[in-house]
Amino acid sequence: ATHRVVVIGGGAGGATAARHIARATKGEIDVTLIEANKTYRSCFFSNHYLGGFRDFGGLEHGYGTLASDYGITVVHDLAKAIDRDKKKIELTGGSLRYDTLILAPGIDFVDGSVNGWSLDDQDKMPHAYQGGAPVRLLRAQIEAMPAGGVFAIVPPQGTYRCPPGPYERLTIIAHLLKQINPTAKIIIADPKPLFSKMSLFRESWRKYYKGMIDMNSDVDMSTFEVDPDDMTIRLDGETIKVDACNVIPSQKAGKIAELAGLTVDGWAPVYAHDMRSKVDDNIYVLGDAAAQGDMPKSAFSANSQAFACAEAILARLQDRELPEPDYNNICWSLLAPQDSVKIGASYEATPDGIKRVEGFVSQRREGAEIRKETYEESLAWYESIVADMFG
Ligand code: FAD
Repeated sequence: ATHRVVVIGGGAGGATAARHIARATKGEIDVTLIEANKTYRSCFFSNHYLGGFRDFGGLEHGYGTLASDYGITVVHDLAKAIDRDKKKIELTGGSLRYDTLILAPGIDFVDGSVNGWSLDDQDKMPHAYQGGAPVRLLRAQIEAMPAGGVFAIVPPQGTYRCPPGPYERLTIIAHLLKQINPTAKIIIADPKPLFSKMSLFRESWRKYYKGMIDMNSDVDMSTFEVDPDDMTIRLDGETIKVDACNVIPSQKAGKIAELAGLTVDGWAPVYAHDMRSKVDDNIYVLGDAAAQGDMPKSAFSANSQAFACAEAILARLQDRELPEPDYNNICWSLLAPQDSVKIGASYEATPDGIKRVEGFVSQRREGAEIRKETYEESLAWYESIVADMFG
């Protein structure tokens, strides 16, 4: 019988892997993609939407070409359980067998990580950290703030998707507010002492958003609290009224990875050279859900891991030697119109996980021309990853 590869999760990791395997094997392998949503709404560049730099439609992508041009069987359903002994996946509407399973379900959230907030409160204080409708809601709430109102953001603790994401978000929101509500204030309640590209972000706040941003680092989360019904936050013993609030809770691998018994401390451990699960030889875990080592959780990383994993699966099926993976990441952040910065690195597979080899980061006081080039690079990257994912 034809070997059946099933991919759960049609995002940066899963869609790339499915397309790459289908393209390389031209129907010799049966590739099925299970994805809950008919339309993918990318988290990456959702900040550009929040700041008015991109239409919401510019984040939306369909799976039609993967089916029509690559022969992938696309099943829009939710994977609810995996019977690893029987190699069988339970869906809402039926079940499906696999020979090889690739799991790329992205993230879920840790309950109780921010006092006073639960997933039931996401309409009042959205996390907007899985893309889609909540991102629109957050922008609407910010646009509806009264003149001189307060927007608060609570970045996550622990390992989370897109390390510069919350900081790019609040910087872009500062840009939006500067246009529509210039006396508004932004309060950051950050549990961490430091964050990605910190000096670059802070430089941009001084340059473009002076007086708008109140940065609180190293916040003691045992005393910090939000009240979504009252629209208040409690920071350093003081209760503050807010008009919009973005709570980004702590994160863990997408629930299906946990249900399948593939996670340890929230994330799914994998081997560095092929992203194969350390728990199950027939399952690979890609992207945010994987505990792989040094690579940050980003779409760029997930895409890079997807190629390595797809190549490894092909080599295994075709009895070839395992190719050396080529892991890379770049995260761009938009600070103001035509002013972007980036951080990136190359990585290698080692027996102790994926290790960072060498990297680079934008410099402070760079010229406008360089920043504009960096911005344009980021736009080109978006087009290229979307082509890798959706054809
Ligand atoms: P996802 O892309 O989230 O895909 C997971 C998919 O699995 C989803 O489509 C989901 O519907 C599906 N799924 C989950 N469970 C099931 C199930 N049980 N059954 C069926 N389907 C299921 N990264 C960058 O590289 N560059 C950036 O500039 C960038 N900016 C970001 C900005 C923000 C604000 C945020 C929040 C993230 C950003 N990221 C960025 C990070 C990036 O979005 C993620 O790291 C990336 O999407 C991870 O890919 P993934 O394949 O692991 O998960």
